[in-house]
Amino acid sequence: MNNDTAKNRIEELVGLINYHSNLYYNESTNEIEDYEYDLLFRELEALEKEYPLLKSDNSPTLKVGSHILKEFEKFEHPIAMYSLSNVMNEEEFTDFHNKMTRDTKVENLEYTVENKFDGLAIELIYEDGSLIVGSTRGDGTIGENVTNNILVIDNIPKKINEKKRLIIRGEALITKKDFNAMNASRIENDELPFANPRNAASGGLRQLDSRESKKRCLKFFAYQIANYEDFDLKTEKSIIEFLSSLGFTVEGAYPAIKFNEVIELYKKIEIERPTFDYEIDGLVIKIDNLDIQEKLGFLSRAPRFAVAFKFKPLEVSTILESISINVGRTGALTPVAKVTPVHVGGVTVTNVTLHNPNEIKSKDIRVGDTVMLIRSGDVIPKITRVVKEKRKEGTLEFVFPTKCPVCGGEVAITDGEVIVRCINDECPSKITKYIEYFVSKPAMNIDGVGKEWINTFVSSGLVKEASDLYKITTDDLNKFDRMGDKLNKKILEAIDKSKETTLKRFIYSLGMRQVGEGTADTLSKYFLSVDAFLNLSKEDLINIESIGEVSTNSIYEFVSNTKTRQLILNLLEVGIVPTHKIKEVLNSSITNKNVVITGTIEGYGRQMAKELAERLGANVQSAVSKNTDILIAGENAGSKLKKATELGITIMTGAEFTALAK
Ligand code: NAD
Repeated sequence: MNNDTAKNRIEELVGLINYHSNLYYNESTNEIEDYEYDLLFRELEALEKEYPLLKSDNSPTLKVGSHILKEFEKFEHPIAMYSLSNVMNEEEFTDFHNKMTRDTKVENLEYTVENKFDGLAIELIYEDGSLIVGSTRGDGTIGENVTNNILVIDNIPKKINEKKRLIIRGEALITKKDFNAMNASRIENDELPFANPRNAASGGLRQLDSRESKKRCLKFFAYQIANYEDFDLKTEKSIIEFLSSLGFTVEGAYPAIKFNEVIELYKKIEIERPTFDYEIDGLVIKIDNLDIQEKLGFLSRAPRFAVAFKFKPLEVSTILESISINVGRTGALTPVAKVTPVHVGGVTVTNVTLHNPNEIKSKDIRVGDTVMLIRSGDVIPKITRVVKEKRKEGTLEFVFPTKCPVCGGEVAITDGEVIVRCINDECPSKITKYIEYFVSKPAMNIDGVGKEWINTFVSSGLVKEASDLYKITTDDLNKFDRMGDKLNKKILEAIDKSKETTLKRFIYSLGMRQVGEGTADTLSKYFLSVDAFLNLSKEDLINIESIGEVSTNSIYEFVSNTKTRQLILNLLEVGIVPTHKIKEVLNSSITNKNVVITGTIEGYGRQMAKELAERLGANVQSAVSKNTDILIAGENAGSKLKKATELGITIMTGAEFTALAK
């Protein structure tokens, strides 16, 4: 490679790495797999080594992570947070070990090995036994202050039995079990599933509303005390023990073992890792002795004394046997590949979603192809590429249906979307899937009407829309085989019982796109009655801080569209009574009082807090004055709190305020 070619390639690599880093660190998403990213990174490192004059001071190989999101307050780490250099195989790890032995002149070095958790690094600072701040790594020097979101992580102790200042680091992550449950419910709600637990964790920690963070069920595994020198700690082993004794979860740590044992452990864990309930992408190997660590010090982006020993991605090849199309509740046509059963990451994969026509086209996936498959993030199987060299002659490009494969109806691609949808309202697949959703637990919770019966009701023409369920009679049911008196009664009772329901369930059960349980809850708290919901204006929705533009449009379209609006009216017509109660609406302690809200009210955005106060009968003012009766002071309240105190105005805490709505 000559100098010019190297220069071009370096520029190209820097551009690519910065692009993917931004997606990964700031958007919590990724377009390429980690190992593909690692290959780009390594290629850049190698070229910079060969052509040192072409290395820029701004190279990603000199940086940790990425810049921080502007929505959060900045937090300067008292001690810098680093990334890790990585090794990819036994040979590279042996090189690392030899170098460590040479540099330290210590034979038989001891290492502490830990699972390399695939989440995101966070820092917790405790003072006087209390957690005072939690932050993300950011660029290593400045991170985001995400204390509110860290406080909702259950296994983080909020108080510890240690008065001295303590700087703890570890990984925030989502277990596979929680991740799968969360994705199942997102799919059910017609929300896009998360690609992998890391992205869901990274996004979850950077929510503006900590209730959203809480829903992600984050966990924290501690692995480091940055200011260990302030304690009597001499080894990584003693750090681990100290962390455990303080009540932190320490997982997958193997203290003080020798080189050969590290290799054995690596091989063992590489096999066992699919059985872990959390994802790891390697092991972290640290020299156990902290004095030696200190002598070795740091490179610009990583310590010298530690290394990430990465696992190979779990990728296998199989044959794609056929592609079928599922038609979902909203009419989305989702292609699903049937593959020759193959074992990967501890499970046998037989079906792999291909998401949409673009995925098939861009990867040129054809029936009969040999395909490479990974369990992306070890969880969702994904086809990474076609092995073109093995393609048999005569294979044909997949032709995506231009009609709905179930009802033969028209299909359309909605603006800006890559998803093809069946637009026939009478499509039996859409109706069946919607009724399954309507009766599900978080929706109308009609126990006893299972999938098979729904299928029977829809295919016999008895149920064409959800309100038809409530018109079913004993005689109607008796016409079906296998229907005994007891079952007949049970089904009708379950349906009848569901008529009395909450506004949240009712709104959720409408199956509006982009409206999951959280949004349904917000809508019910905002509108309080089905009438108000039916008469909503677009401005109302825009005013609700936690509801974004896409959801606003979807909700507004649903409620104002004549057809869908009629579906809601039909449900009310058959006797469903959705109610929402805020107990103290009229008689709360702030009714008819002039109130000012300041600071952050946990779980409530600014607009939501104002709405709540108004619904509790208060007159909400924007500035503190002599005629203010009460100041509601959330976290980080500033000048308004000072002024109110000077004026002798009653102060109510954020928690006291939100308790009024319970
Ligand atoms: P890293 O993930 O390779 O290593 C450092 C991180 O390891 C720490 O910050 C910490 O979060 C984590 N870690 C987990 N367990 C640990 C333990 N026991 N002790 C210490 N640290 C532990 O480095 P990075 O800078 O966070 O990220 C670089 C990596 O991120 C890349 O190698 C790649 O895998 C991935 N990445 C992927 C993309 C993509 O587009 N797919 C983009 C950017 C980065």
